Amino acid sequence: MSKHTLPELPYDFNALEPYIDARTMEIHHGKHHGGYVNNLNAAIEGTEMENLSLSDLLKNISKYPVAVRNNGGGHFNHSLFWTIMGKGKGGEPSGNLLDDINSSFGSFEEFKNLFSKAAATRFGSGWAWLLVNDGKLAVSSTPNQDNPLMDVTEVKGTPILGLDVWEHAYYLKYQNRRPEYIENFFNVIDWDAVAKRYEEAK
Ligand code: MN
Repeated sequence: MSKHTLPELPYDFNALEPYIDARTMEIHHGKHHGGYVNNLNAAIEGTEMENLSLSDLLKNISKYPVAVRNNGGGHFNHSLFWTIMGKGKGGEPSGNLLDDINSSFGSFEEFKNLFSKAAATRFGSGWAWLLVNDGKLAVSSTPNQDNPLMDVTEVKGTPILGLDVWEHAYYLKYQNRRPEYIENFFNVIDWDAVAKRYEEAK
């Protein structure tokens, strides 16, 4: 299997302004995500892990070194993160996804509150998730670069929306104001991309 590679950002660094600033996007994508990819490749080089897909590594991650958990998780999580945001997005989901958010959480507002709370109360570094588990939607959070695909994770499933709450994701613009970053994230969510992941995950 070929080496893991850093996916191109599907929009310009400044596309998510003013909610997520260009300098943060540039460093986050190039240095942080790029670092996870390089460190993942170094961690698996010359081992049987080179022959496994990223998702196969993650679903049995308890069998592999912590460097693969951290950097493989980092590579997966950021690859998802870039694609569920976009320029001029935000608003609310529609169709099946909205119907199922309403039936799972009561309303879009209640989902937003639950997701925002998961993101705000994750102590230290980690992620908040909207995921599909046995066809049902759920909200969770994970520490570090863990995610719902990993066998070590409490709430397992297929993530369809993720929010990075590591300080590197927001500190340049928001400093310690994580709740403001979380609120503004809702202005850049590409709900069509999330809905597509939802249909594939169900
Ligand atoms: Mn990050």
